[in-house]
Amino acid sequence: MRCPFCGNIDTQVKDSRPAEDHVSIRRRRFCPACGGRFTTYERVQLRDLVVIKSNGKREDFDRDKLERSIRISMQKRPIEPDRIDQMISGIVRRLESMGETDIPSNRIGEIVMEALARIDTVAYVRFASVYKNFQAADDFEDFVHELRPPTAPGEE
Ligand SMILES: [Zn+2]
Repeated sequence: MRCPFCGNIDTQVKDSRPAEDHVSIRRRRFCPACGGRFTTYERVQLRDLVVIKSNGKREDFDRDKLERSIRISMQKRPIEPDRIDQMISGIVRRLESMGETDIPSNRIGEIVMEALARIDTVAYVRFASVYKNFQAADDFEDFVHELRPPTAPGEE
């Protein structure tokens, strides 16, 4: 695994342990070149999912992107990080078990909203209000961008 700080590819695993009720393995990694420490998660991927946008474009499903948008909608909400991880894993499992490899982007939005509605009303409303604009634009990138709080210019 390449070091995200210096690009060195020879990093070491310091610790491995199950996370999220044993649906993933959390690995603490160490880069001997720069001393950087980072964490990776290993998960079962049942199948490769493809997102179909309303304009017909296809792109590989990106769990990290989904996770970013969900975490932003849950900012400053009193929700355990483990609970959020579990929810995201549940959403991905649902997508993977839909029987289709190609999934319309609006279907993903609906599933996320259903999951959020069960966990936190405020996060649900935040996500849903952006999702309405999202359906007009129907571009996941725009969607994630809109969810980003306007308070952090230049911060990525
Ligand atoms: Zn490094």
